[in-house]
Amino acid sequence: MRPDMRRGPQVTIPEAANAVSAIAEATSTIKVTRARSRSRPPLAPASVFTPRGRRRLWHYTYPCRACHTYHFGRAKALDEVTGVRRAGCGHLVSVMIARVYGQAETGAAA
Ligand SMILES: [Zn+2]
Repeated sequence: MRPDMRRGPQVTIPEAANAVSAIAEATSTIKVTRARSRSRPPLAPASVFTPRGRRRLWHYTYPCRACHTYHFGRAKALDEVTGVRRAGCGHLVSVMIARVYGQAETGAAA
């Protein structure tokens, strides 16, 4: 065998290895993203009631896709309504503000 014929495959093998590792990296990234979206708790669209009068907290209610009933919740601020929390039934839900009832009082202490 000639040495220059051997050089051909020797040059291409590292390139191929790089390509394979790049594909493996991309695939693992996709897997992580899919796993995250799969493990995300079911979405719970919440109806939020503004704190008015004697009510100091934001009250909200949402249909639970885990147990197919409704749950109630309270939060000190509107931002705290959104997020992943454990519902009264024990399931994790991803609470999202669907609608807000009542007008927010501006300048309310957080
Ligand atoms: Zn539930």
